[in-house]
Amino acid sequence: MKHFTVLGAGIVGVCSALALQREGWSVTLIDRDAPGQGCSFGNAGILHSGGVLPFARPGIVGMVPRMLFDRESALVLNWRYLGSLAPWFARFLWASRPSHVERASRALAPLALGARAAYEPLLREAGAQDLLRPRGELYAYRTREGFEAERADMNARRALGLPVEELDQAALRALEPAIAPDYRFAWYQPASASIANPGRLVQRLVALFAERGGEFRNLDVRSVSPTSILTDRGSLAVENLVICAGAHSRAFAAALGCNAPLQTWRGYHIMVPRDSVPLNGLLVDGDMHFAVTPMEDGIRVAGLVEFASLEAPPNYDRADLFLKLGRMLLPDFPREAQSRWMGHRPGMPDSVPVIGRSPAYPNVYFNFGHGTLGLTFGPITGGLLAEVAADRRGALDPAPYDPARYAA
Ligand SMILES: Cc1cc2nc3c(=O)[nH]c(=O)nc-3n(C[C@H](O)[C@H](O)[C@H](O)COP(=O)(O)OP(=O)(O)OC[C@H]3O[C@@H](n4cnc5c(N)ncnc54)[C@H](O)[C@@H]3O)c2cc1C
Repeated sequence: MKHFTVLGAGIVGVCSALALQREGWSVTLIDRDAPGQGCSFGNAGILHSGGVLPFARPGIVGMVPRMLFDRESALVLNWRYLGSLAPWFARFLWASRPSHVERASRALAPLALGARAAYEPLLREAGAQDLLRPRGELYAYRTREGFEAERADMNARRALGLPVEELDQAALRALEPAIAPDYRFAWYQPASASIANPGRLVQRLVALFAERGGEFRNLDVRSVSPTSILTDRGSLAVENLVICAGAHSRAFAAALGCNAPLQTWRGYHIMVPRDSVPLNGLLVDGDMHFAVTPMEDGIRVAGLVEFASLEAPPNYDRADLFLKLGRMLLPDFPREAQSRWMGHRPGMPDSVPVIGRSPAYPNVYFNFGHGTLGLTFGPITGGLLAEVAADRRGALDPAPYDPARYAA
């Protein structure tokens, strides 16, 4: 029986490990923390069925000048990193050209459109159906300008078969009566859903993996080679190795034949008590680009893309901004947060994750770079990784995600 070592127990690593097990292989899953404590812990919990568009597209690129000066922008850049980030931004700008956006959308569409269906059996098997909140994504706007700015993207989603509804103020208030009265326009994507505790989801999936004979090991990996990994507790031989270390994958991939231009897109959340705001479901402020999600253990406000480094300390002033924004959206929103968090999204310039076999080593695989959509994409990209490892062609064409595009 083949053996696989999967590095990284976030949503992508555990979904990959479960899919490899389904092929009949034995799997060891490694993480330096408890499972699901990385980026997969603190996300907004949204299964974005509309996540068919890459982050780099003309509208977002238009925000770049503002992010340098406006500390309340949804995109912020720490000036200190401008020099080191310049080559990555050049790729990001290149990826925003219409032909590249179209190509990236073709790659992202099957990952997003099938997300909810891919989760249903997984949640059932893990006994975690209680975590799925079926209400779709509700995007609310104060300004007609902001609402209309999304129309082209919403039409692009419709063209891919995704239902998108346009709501007036009465319909918006019927769904969320506590919303501030100056929010007058809304888009609704009923096919999306949310997960009420993304960290617990990963823990449940790792428990399922263990029930099926998988081994989880708490190890800090220092370096990797195609035949072994060096950890804080010595060296470990590997037969097949899969890198799923999220935003931390870049150096590991580079050592294994793939120079993927991965960059951390830092994001923040705050938690406030569940009963402090009357909220019926997932609500996104479309003007200010942040999400408010009812979770098991409170209400989470999450968002912001901050360009800095993996090592830079969190700037929790950015998270505290959500208190002010929260009160703008929901007037009863509390003045203090229960907790604050910062995490590293694994961002690729074109938003297309790197999935498949190393161009240099046939026993090495990658599954990382899921950017703003790793929770959504995890079950499908895990399945794709296992198909590639089994040399079997499934419904999804692996070519757009092939690590060979970044061959060292
Ligand atoms: C604020 C915010 C909101 C978001 N909202 C959403 C959303 O609503 N929907 C959505 O789909 N996505 C969302 N995302 C994105 C999503 O969270 C990520 O894409 C996803 O979590 C990436 O999963 P991953 O498994 O690749 O990485 P991670 O969850 O970061 O897992 C990588 C794992 O590798 C481990 N690791 C790294 N280096 C080592 C090492 N040297 N040794 C051992 N272990 C190591 C880490 O400890 C970690 O557990 C959001 C992200 C942020 C920041």
